Amino acid sequence: MKVAPLEEELRTMAIGDVKVGELLSRHTSFRIGGPASVFVEPDTLDGVVRVLDWARDEHLPYFIIGQGTNILVSDRGVDAIVISTARGLRQIEINPPLMRAGSGVLLTKLCHVAERAQLSGLEFAISIPGTLGGALVMNAGAHGGAMVEVVESVLVWDAIRGVRRIQAQDVQFQYRQSRFMNNPWIALEAELRLKPCDSVNIRRTMQHNMEYRKKSQPVGEPNAGSVFKNPLPHYAGKLIENVGAKGWRVGDAQVSTLHANFIVNRGQARAVDVLTLMRRIRLFVYRDTGIILRPEVRWIGPGEGGATATWENLWYEEGVGLREL
Ligand SMILES: Cc1cc2nc3c(=O)[nH]c(=O)nc-3n(C[C@H](O)[C@H](O)[C@H](O)COP(=O)(O)OP(=O)(O)OC[C@H]3O[C@@H](n4cnc5c(N)ncnc54)[C@H](O)[C@@H]3O)c2cc1C
Repeated sequence: MKVAPLEEELRTMAIGDVKVGELLSRHTSFRIGGPASVFVEPDTLDGVVRVLDWARDEHLPYFIIGQGTNILVSDRGVDAIVISTARGLRQIEINPPLMRAGSGVLLTKLCHVAERAQLSGLEFAISIPGTLGGALVMNAGAHGGAMVEVVESVLVWDAIRGVRRIQAQDVQFQYRQSRFMNNPWIALEAELRLKPCDSVNIRRTMQHNMEYRKKSQPVGEPNAGSVFKNPLPHYAGKLIENVGAKGWRVGDAQVSTLHANFIVNRGQARAVDVLTLMRRIRLFVYRDTGIILRPEVRWIGPGEGGATATWENLWYEEGVGLREL
């Protein structure tokens, strides 16, 4: 991608901050990831839509990033326009029992706002890092709850049909999955349906959930949450623990000694270290159980499909890159 003219065009559009070669390790909870060709942080919803329209019309690869808590970005970076929702999609409106929020709002912030408004339903999400947008895409969940239970509708930018509102059933939420993953859709905002409830009860449940998390997950070290999806009815963490993988290390990437389905960055881990560790884990679990673990963390970088390649069925071979499983 020829960056200079794109940068100039984006600056002329005056939609917000534009950076060339911004290291994505600064924008991921793993603290891993090479440079983005162009990194844009639009200031408004209109700015997000304008940059998306422009990238589509110019046939430029683009990638949307929330808080970067569920992605593993290539060490070589991403040859694409990376668009952050952090600044422009931050509005919150309450009209009990409905709540409307921009997809760049942090889930934890939303939980606290709901608590103050005496609205229940988001307690499960109090300790899930990331933005509302990322949570919609992943159908994020914990403590027995998930986004599917509270979403009423989503305002999306659809590369084909423009900005439109879709109802929750059309998002087809499934376990850590949604139609966002295989459609050219970007979530702009969502309407959530909550239930009136006493703040004290909401706070008590949230407190309980936060304490549980502190005890069971390596919250103090850079990571991207659960690396693999649970191959239901099994738990990925248990399968990984059973092959003795806790503590395995490649470079500075290490399988957490607290929770085997977490890989932590002990300092200077590279994406390739994490991928190698994941590959080893998958091989051992497959050898012992016949179960193929599917990544929950999303791969961002070169591979089949260009900048937005995902690796649901991809396998990483050192020296070869990603190939179909
Ligand atoms: C310590 C830790 C604990 C975690 N615990 C949990 C947990 O309990 N349950 C759980 O489900 N997850 C968990 N996660 C994973 C992660 O927090 C969630 O998946 C979160 O919802 C991702 O949000 P994000 O904004 O960081 O998304 P990102 O990582 O920025 O993006 C994730 C994917 O969503 C896409 N995306 C982001 N925003 C949009 C948008 N507006 N429109 C369209 N696509 C978009 C991105 O392109 C990418 O493909 C955990 C992560 C960490 C680091």
